Amino acid sequence: MTDLDIAKKIELKHISSIAEKLGLQADDIEMYGKYKAKLPHGLMDKDKVDRCNLILVSAVSPTPAGEGKTTMSIGLSEGLNQLGKQTTVVLREPSLGPVFGIKGGATGGGHSQVLPMEDINLHFTGDFSAIEKAHNLLSAIIDNNIQSKTNSVGLDPRTVTWKRVMDMNDRSLRNIVIGLGGTTSGVPRQTGFDITAASEIMAILCLSDDLEDLKKRLGNIFIGYTLKREPIYAKDLKVEGAMAALLKDAVKPNLVQTIEGNPAIIHGGPFANIAQGTNSVIATRMGMSLSDYVVTEAGFGADLGAEKFLDIKCQSAGLSPKAVVLTTTIRALKYHGGADLKNLTEENVEALTKGLPNLEKHLENVKQFGITPVISINRFLTDSDEEIETIKDFAKNNNVRVALAEVWAKGGKGALELAQHVIDIVEEGSSNFKPLYDWESDVKTKIETIATKIYGADGVEYSALAKKNLRTIANLGLEKLPVCVAKTQKSLSDNPKLLGQPKGFSITVREIEIAAGAGFLVPITGDMMRMPGLPAHPASENINIDNNGNISGLF
Ligand code: ADP
Ligand code: MG
Repeated sequence: MTDLDIAKKIELKHISSIAEKLGLQADDIEMYGKYKAKLPHGLMDKDKVDRCNLILVSAVSPTPAGEGKTTMSIGLSEGLNQLGKQTTVVLREPSLGPVFGIKGGATGGGHSQVLPMEDINLHFTGDFSAIEKAHNLLSAIIDNNIQSKTNSVGLDPRTVTWKRVMDMNDRSLRNIVIGLGGTTSGVPRQTGFDITAASEIMAILCLSDDLEDLKKRLGNIFIGYTLKREPIYAKDLKVEGAMAALLKDAVKPNLVQTIEGNPAIIHGGPFANIAQGTNSVIATRMGMSLSDYVVTEAGFGADLGAEKFLDIKCQSAGLSPKAVVLTTTIRALKYHGGADLKNLTEENVEALTKGLPNLEKHLENVKQFGITPVISINRFLTDSDEEIETIKDFAKNNNVRVALAEVWAKGGKGALELAQHVIDIVEEGSSNFKPLYDWESDVKTKIETIATKIYGADGVEYSALAKKNLRTIANLGLEKLPVCVAKTQKSLSDNPKLLGQPKGFSITVREIEIAAGAGFLVPITGDMMRMPGLPAHPASENINIDNNGNISGLF
């Protein structure tokens, strides 16, 4: 049975009865049909946020297929609800790029899914479209200003790095020339498209506290320089008000349901490399305002997702997670122990054992933040008993909690052991979150702290361009911003080929980008893809709809 087959068997509850589980009346929510609703900001309550237990689901260094963080987050929240803890899962919204490409959607899998998966994976409530429009409004305003004779801020078109965005994998738009066609059709310049999830507006929306803060961050977007080398920001083009107006509904989190009829909030979907890779601050606070437990996920392995979640999002929003669940798959550890990607379904205790140092480093990293981790083994049908015992023994020897989680096969019932561990960690109060670095320290110190403590590097090297970027950052007075390192997820290092727990390497920063609106700097350590391409046989070939509106082929 496919994920979609399982999803279709479920009789969905009306969204007002899901809202009831959060203590809300039908009138409190803004319904988008029968199964989706927007949650207005007025429902947030700071005291309740402070009392709620926030649980972060992260993972070991993943294989390209993903190790099941979303699936684990949903299953764990079902398990916590089964144990009588009122829990909401808060997640990112899928991007259409992967839905039609290779990876598929992002609504969990098997018996741990959020519903209606067809809607969530396709357009949902239109938030991505609104973000795209707000982004492209700024693009249009920039080119209009370059064209203008009476309203020009004197932008040097060669310094503008702001592109356009679209939520589709379309590699032909990566590099384009615009403004062709003579004097009435703009000033020719080279630019391109990124996918919407890579837009700075996405990162901004997901870090904003409210509309006022959103507008301030939109105004702070750095555009480029004038011919006299003066910096120009979006606010200089008087565009932030209109951009925020376009986002008036997109800033409200979306309420849906899990397979077991529990509440799920889905909102925002920034990239996990050049951005923070986790749902909006507003959605997290909304879930925490309405529940006793919130389970959430941050993209890629714990070196990227958890580090950014904790150092950027939690510091900026004043959040403090009580436990970190490290999703671990036997296939990923075998891969890190040298097994070939093609053979990961075959039993291989030797490779698994050799891959354990990867898990060990991620555990150490979580503890560096003062948070108690629990290993959740995401069980695949091909995992052998001996392989499972190998991880359990490792956990016992290292004094770390571990649970076999069968959330994909069994839903919440498969997460009861994990859920009990999470409750125990919360109730013993052993976590005491402290960020890894102080935002006030200088940029190089921040980067080096992450590289040496989290990645295990000996040091950091900077290209000539990166050094120039550091001077620009100093000139613009942006040194106090946190850093959001763009690095491969395949390795703890910046070299995707170094598996396990690499040692004796240094990190090379090629360039440092400025996301002044979002409020972070992005040291780039490899080639970062912001507009993915489609494979020769994209998933779209199998997606269809019949005359009754039934969709097939989504996964
Ligand atoms: P992540 O959030 O870490 O990227 P997902 O939860 O989206 O990972 O899972 C990636 C894919 O793997 C999904 O298609 C999901 O259905 C599948 N998957 C996850 N866990 C299992 C499992 N235990 N058995 C089989 N498939 C799984
Ligand atoms: Mg995910």
